[in-house]
Amino acid sequence: MVKTDYEVVVVGGGPAGLAAGQYSARAGRKTAIVEELSCGGQAMIIDEIENYPGMGKTTGYELAAAFENQAVEFGCEIVYDQIQSIEKTEDGIFNLNLLSGKITARAVIIATGSKHRNLDVPGERDYTGHGVSYCATCDGPFFKEKKILVCGGGDSAVQEAMYLTKLSSTITVCHRRDRFRAQAAVVDNLMKTGRVSLKMNHNVLSINGKDGKVSSVTFRDNASGREYTEDFDAVFVFVGNIPQSALVGCEKDESGFILTDFNMQTSVPGMFAAGDVRKTPFRQVVTAASDGAIAAHYASEYIDAADGRAY
Ligand code: NAP
Repeated sequence: MVKTDYEVVVVGGGPAGLAAGQYSARAGRKTAIVEELSCGGQAMIIDEIENYPGMGKTTGYELAAAFENQAVEFGCEIVYDQIQSIEKTEDGIFNLNLLSGKITARAVIIATGSKHRNLDVPGERDYTGHGVSYCATCDGPFFKEKKILVCGGGDSAVQEAMYLTKLSSTITVCHRRDRFRAQAAVVDNLMKTGRVSLKMNHNVLSINGKDGKVSSVTFRDNASGREYTEDFDAVFVFVGNIPQSALVGCEKDESGFILTDFNMQTSVPGMFAAGDVRKTPFRQVVTAASDGAIAAHYASEYIDAADGRAY
């Protein structure tokens, strides 16, 4: 049997990574999660989660803390560090080079998640932190009863707009198509607030400012081709995510999402992937957790097989 620091190292401490850590440690594998910031991932900034089975209404923060506590209770270590590179050696060991030094593992689970995509329009970068935001729970309270624009048509845009309706009665949601991508139930809840107006089939052309902060937004109505400018105090951007997969050299799709089989096995034997970083048709906290559990199970079976035990 090959000697390594850990049997399984999970890269990333969001819901997928925490679930993987818990399942792996509970299966008796010496397991560490390497996380560069704090555990919880993108779940941490979700104000309200109402669809995690068995939990009723909770916050992303509470759910993430519960995930972390459970992983640690089962014996999973959490290492706060940044991974610089991952290499697989000829004898099948994974070397993970951290800022503080090297750790080794028999199997790795990549659960690095994704980060927000930008609109990429003039003014967006200039006014980030001065009216342009990517987190409603973090920055919404700065814009109480102000005129707020939310960009995007997915679950994130609609859910974050929902949160913002608690702070302001003048919320506008702008989506580039005439149909939301978000789940119908979430859109219904938003519209029931009566605090939201829609700009469907609209593109943001620029975010404009005055005195160093956002003052207006220029739109194109895609149906008529008309371009016009309207005053806004804040722009919240939720136009999807980019996978954080640059660290690994396994097979990915054209957008960088990691390709796996049903066991979460990537194209590199012993390297598994789970959660938002993986190519998957539906991204929820519950599907990330499920990915993590599957990845941990098959990482453990992979180690058994490498040791000549039944697979
Ligand atoms: P998403 O589902 O990929 O939606 C991104 C939205 O942004 C789409 O409506 C897209 O328009 C639009 N968009 C993309 N690029 C754009 C651009 N350059 N300019 C303008 N609009 C642009 O992303 P998400 O909403 O962040 O959600 C990510 C995943 O997390 C999804 O699987 C989602 O279901 C999940 N999620 C679930 C929950 C929940 O259930 N509680 C909450 C949040 C997120 P098109 O529709 O035209 O492509």
